[in-house]
Amino acid sequence: MLFKFHVGTKVYFGRNCVKDNIMEFSGYGTRAVIVTGKNSGKSSGALDDVSAIFEQLNIKYMIYDKIENNPALENIQEGAIAAASFHPHFIVGIGGGSPLDAAKAVAVLAANDIEPAELFKNAFRNKPLPVIAIPTTAGTGSEVTPYSILTRRDMQTKMSFGNEDTFPKAAFIDASYTESLPADITVNTAVDAFSHALEGYLSKRSTPVSDILAVQAIDIFGQCVSNLQRGEFDFGIREKLLYMSMLGGMVISQTGTTIVHGMGYSLTYFKNIPHGRANGLLMSEYLKFIYDNAAKKVDNVLKLLRLGSIGEFGTLMGGLLSEKVQLTEEEIRLYALLAMKQKSASYNVVPVTQEDLMRLYRQSLKGKS
Ligand code: NAP
Ligand code: ZN
Repeated sequence: MLFKFHVGTKVYFGRNCVKDNIMEFSGYGTRAVIVTGKNSGKSSGALDDVSAIFEQLNIKYMIYDKIENNPALENIQEGAIAAASFHPHFIVGIGGGSPLDAAKAVAVLAANDIEPAELFKNAFRNKPLPVIAIPTTAGTGSEVTPYSILTRRDMQTKMSFGNEDTFPKAAFIDASYTESLPADITVNTAVDAFSHALEGYLSKRSTPVSDILAVQAIDIFGQCVSNLQRGEFDFGIREKLLYMSMLGGMVISQTGTTIVHGMGYSLTYFKNIPHGRANGLLMSEYLKFIYDNAAKKVDNVLKLLRLGSIGEFGTLMGGLLSEKVQLTEEEIRLYALLAMKQKSASYNVVPVTQEDLMRLYRQSLKGKS
């Protein structure tokens, strides 16, 4: 056995964990910028909770609430300029993966005089400002990953950066902040969390410890499937989904993702398909593609989900994701080319070629038009 395991985030999990651990907010300085989306901070209730704590602790704060979904570098730059003018000591990210990833980028840019595109060099002269992450979706696990995934319009895709210094310093993970999530976003983001566990489990970079976390997350997804199908989410289910999402984040912090994520980025960039849904559409053909090289693990995934075959898995995913997608041959060629350039292309148990990915797109989206 030879592996490294590192999650650099202090986790507070459970209902009211923000209010019950106020002192955690007092250790990072007296000026903070809150980075959030247009609605997620407010509708989740997390923004009110954090603002009240800052008043109580006499911490001066500024709210930047203009983070878009799948934030582009231009959006990050605007946020970074606004944040820099406030001279913060730390950053609080509140929201789904988009605001949390943006908070990490703003934290690096606030401490380093660099252009946003230089974030992807992944080496920064000064350490980023500390980030506290408060998720309001149960999907990305960004609260416990070092990654920030940003849209690069100049390259027509999404790219990530992250190193050991970009893990959030603390994460407050409270399922009550996800109760305001509409059912479709709940399903899409749950599929994303499941995808992290699945891809990490089946990655060339999986480790004995990441596998323990992945197996638990996959099992929890199985427990939640019927609720996801019915669109019924009580607090207990929401808490399970959020816990699964955190586990998935811990998994990909060790393993990264695979070509499923790499291929999904183009579906999001060009076709506006939500991130989790994009991954879900590609999963069952991916399982068939790698089966001969990962039979034991794929069979275990099916067993954990109480399914008899990859065909049944495909039917399950198809029922959760009723997306209509139609790609032309030119689009398929371009998307496969872009996916080949992703780091995750090299993490598959089976080496991939552009032709393989074109075939995977065709088979995955067949009958989805
Ligand atoms: P998101 O883009 O952050 O949010 C999706 C939508 O949900 C937004 O409209 C958002 O509103 C809304 N929303 C969020 N929380 C809500 C709540 N509690 N109540 C009502 N509405 C709420 O979605 P996401 O799937 O969580 O994040 C996707 C991003 O994360 C992608 O860019 C993806 O590439 C990235 N990602 C990151 C990692 C990582 O490790 N860092 C891993 C996987 C994916 P607002 O517009 O108001 O925010
Ligand atoms: Zn993801």
